[in-house]
Amino acid sequence: MTETDIAIIGGGAAGLSAAIYAARAGFIPYLFENVYMGGQIANTDIIENYPAMGIISGYDLIEGFISHLKKFEYNLRNAEIFEISPEKVIKTSKGDYKAKAVIIATGARPRKLEVAGEESGGVSYCAVCDGNFYRKKTVAVIGGGNTAIHDALFLSRICEKVYLIHRRGEFRGNIAPLRELPNVALVTDTILTSINGGKKVSSITIQNVQTKEVRDIQADGVFAAVGTLPNTEFIRNLGITDGNGAIITDECMRTSIGGIFAAGDVRRTPLRQIITAAADGAVAATYACAGIEG
Ligand SMILES: Cc1cc2nc3c(=O)[nH]c(=O)nc-3n(C[C@H](O)[C@H](O)[C@H](O)COP(=O)(O)OP(=O)(O)OC[C@H]3O[C@@H](n4cnc5c(N)ncnc54)[C@H](O)[C@@H]3O)c2cc1C
Repeated sequence: MTETDIAIIGGGAAGLSAAIYAARAGFIPYLFENVYMGGQIANTDIIENYPAMGIISGYDLIEGFISHLKKFEYNLRNAEIFEISPEKVIKTSKGDYKAKAVIIATGARPRKLEVAGEESGGVSYCAVCDGNFYRKKTVAVIGGGNTAIHDALFLSRICEKVYLIHRRGEFRGNIAPLRELPNVALVTDTILTSINGGKKVSSITIQNVQTKEVRDIQADGVFAAVGTLPNTEFIRNLGITDGNGAIITDECMRTSIGGIFAAGDVRRTPLRQIITAAADGAVAATYACAGIEG
């Protein structure tokens, strides 16, 4: 079994930032990534909200993270992690490792709407990221929780018209600020049945679950806000996740198990963005290194 001081699981913004901080603190971290470096950023066309970068492609931003890390010594393993024990033994597709500290930075994936037309490419899963592309247009936000309410509020400042569509009669959050806004329509007891128009959305079809009435609404974009699924299936044995599968940490990114940290979208956090993921990675690595130094 290979022994190491610090193992970082996931090569997205959180993992790369953690690796840079660990390497700068004098350690040679192991970084495990099972698909490709960059995580969600690698799949993002344009990023407009990473400070100091202006408007940058996801590819160029992640190249910046990677070339920064390459200035330091680290070990990259293209391997999938299957399990981590409380003793920090890491079972991977390329053998077993034992670390003094582990930083879990395996990200999250948005929950899908699972309706016709979703796979055509006209659905966004991140209002903060993509809202600006719908300036002065009409959009529909699907969901009834805090994320959906925040997304509708955020989009109301950019878009001409925002429909907030929720399958139940009551929202699970404070809807009061939205009620005041003339360009927001709250559509309750209603499900989305299809997204029409392909990559360039032209309308959506909705159905009232009480009256069964079906109608089309003109819309230029659809924002899904029906939750995220943290990539934590492989560490459920540790008992460090909440009911949604997100890892619970303190402000130093420590979990309830000594030496095991979490950073980025994988943890329970109020904002899932590149800047917060990178910041989490910095905090996690700093406290992981401090723990090893004693
Ligand atoms: C379409 C879209 C657009 C977005 N646009 C923006 C934007 O404009 N601005 C912004 O700030 N944010 C944006 N975001 C959010 C942002 O991309 C994320 O918040 C951020 O990238 C999360 O980084 P992370 O490192 O926590 O996780 P991720 O980027 O998800 O990285 C996790 C990595 O872990 C790896 N991994 C997972 N499980 C395992 C395993 N078992 N073994 C080994 N490796 C594993 C994955 O392959 C992945 O590479 C967007 C997200 C999406 C989906």
